[in-house]
Amino acid sequence: MSGQAMPFQLTILGTSSALPTSNRYPTAQVLQVLGRFFLIDCGEGTQTQMRKYKIGFSKINHIFISHLHGDHIFGLIGLISTMELLGRKNDLHLYSHSELQKYLSAQIQFLYPEGITYKIIYHPLNFKKEQKIYEDQKVTVFSFPLVHRIPTCGFRFEEKPALPNLRPDKIDEYQIPIRDRQRIKEGGDFINKEGNLIPHTELTENKHTARSFAFCSDTRYDESYIDSVRGVDLLYHEATFANDNKDLAQITYHSTGENAATVALKAEVGKLIIGHFSARYNDHTPILEDAQSIFRNTESILEGQVFQI
Ligand SMILES: [Zn+2]
Ligand SMILES: [Zn+2]
Repeated sequence: MSGQAMPFQLTILGTSSALPTSNRYPTAQVLQVLGRFFLIDCGEGTQTQMRKYKIGFSKINHIFISHLHGDHIFGLIGLISTMELLGRKNDLHLYSHSELQKYLSAQIQFLYPEGITYKIIYHPLNFKKEQKIYEDQKVTVFSFPLVHRIPTCGFRFEEKPALPNLRPDKIDEYQIPIRDRQRIKEGGDFINKEGNLIPHTELTENKHTARSFAFCSDTRYDESYIDSVRGVDLLYHEATFANDNKDLAQITYHSTGENAATVALKAEVGKLIIGHFSARYNDHTPILEDAQSIFRNTESILEGQVFQI
């Protein structure tokens, strides 16, 4: 997971749930993958947090919205207006419930009757099953249904595996010409001077492992989405309550620290980070301790924290 040149890193912009607190912001995270910047949820104050943690507005071309509760979308219109003020030209892609378009376009229409300087392209999510929602040469993004009061999706971001490297000792040993090297990296075999076939597996080594991150907020504990986060390097899972409010978590379709950790354990992820804390907790230690008792490699998140994947 380390020592790789291109960053795969997560910056936390907001960590709290529905009610405002004096020092925490509602859910928003920016995932930087090989030069792409993906904004995940956009709670109130997201643009202020982006300024604070030096994430350029113009770098954001894709925004993923888990669901249409206010603490995950109140920041959108502010960010969209700022982009307009800055004269944005690039398309902005929004992945969300289809109803978001109704909500946002009414506000945009009211504020900018003559229209804005750029195009917003809406991509409706599927709340019934996992779906590939974005793909380019290096990255794939999937959405998958969670279990909340209203339709909600989690997201999984995967780096595509890179081609393996040729082993320098084998290049020397078999005198592999330059013209054959790319083909071998792509899985081709090599025939040496004596006419023997050398399988590509003997000639290459795979130093690079594809990195992955999954985001789960908001949701009640449910085993239905465990396969969608299986084996990721880093999992963010909401943990609104500690065990003292287990019942409240059930009723409000939220998770406890223990729930988040159980998902992490069953899905065999590398590391778990938790957030979306209820405003009733001044101190998040109990939530973290509940989680760590089940899944040791858990951290609770803070605004401004950066996780390298
Ligand atoms: Zn929420
Ligand atoms: Zn919610």
